[in-house]
Amino acid sequence: MMDDLRNLYQEVIFDHNRNPRNYGALENPNRTAQGYNPLCGDQLKLYMVLDDDGRIADVSFEGNGCAISTASASIMTSIIKGKTAEEAQIYFDSFHGMVTGEGDGDDSLEDFDKLRVLGGVAEYPSRVKCATLAWHTVRAAIDESEEPVTTE
Ligand code: ZN
Repeated sequence: MMDDLRNLYQEVIFDHNRNPRNYGALENPNRTAQGYNPLCGDQLKLYMVLDDDGRIADVSFEGNGCAISTASASIMTSIIKGKTAEEAQIYFDSFHGMVTGEGDGDDSLEDFDKLRVLGGVAEYPSRVKCATLAWHTVRAAIDESEEPVTTE
């Protein structure tokens, strides 16, 4: 049973890696940020339209990275699009807790199950940064951080 679940999760990750959702530059973003994970070489550029109410009206990404970083960015953008910056932060906290093994995730959050496919990285500390790069980069975009994000 555990193996079936593991295979299913891997398939979802491979699918997002092959066909990443929300991939490509936005035409008129009002926020952008760049992220880099030197440990793995993952690079990410994030585009966002944050409206006046603090809602993420649109979000996309481009980059070069491993399957986990690409799948994580793909899943993340699908989930936070349409949510407020505060809501995105709640997802980030819960996701971060899950992949670092410090929390269990929060299934009361809509679509949190989609993030569970990345929960397995908790067993591989070097991959945690691949899985969280997109989230750190989104936070930098929301905070209007000028500095590129690095996981180191
Ligand atoms: Zn990586």
